[in-house]
Amino acid sequence: MNIALIAHDEKKELMIQFCIAYCGILSRNNLCATGTTGKIISEATGLKITGFLAGSQGGDQQIAARIACNEIDMLLFFRDPLNPKPNEPNDMNLLRLCDMHNIPVATNIATAEVLIHGLERGDLDWRNIIK
Ligand code: PGA
Repeated sequence: MNIALIAHDEKKELMIQFCIAYCGILSRNNLCATGTTGKIISEATGLKITGFLAGSQGGDQQIAARIACNEIDMLLFFRDPLNPKPNEPNDMNLLRLCDMHNIPVATNIATAEVLIHGLERGDLDWRNIIK
């Protein structure tokens, strides 16, 4: 499965903790991320991650383009609901594209845990069938 990871600055530490906790499952999938998110996760976990541009430089749009082409199977996007910075990726376009393509998306760690357990259990195998 192709999993995309994005974390707003206030949520980056949480994303690292999540990736440490689920390193085993994540390592069996293809991971990509916006620039800074990908860098800090791979430094903390050793996970191999395809890094796009930083969010402020359009990395979220690179991920959006892949979602639009149905090349992403899951998006884990840890948003800062309180103080998102103006240069941080805007969620509405990403969420709209996920809805268009029925891509499982988590915007907080609680949902991300549910999705990652579902992934491990094979709940998302239907995505391989429809491709
Ligand atoms: P980053 O992009 O991973 O490059 O920081 C996401 C963000 O700007 O929040």
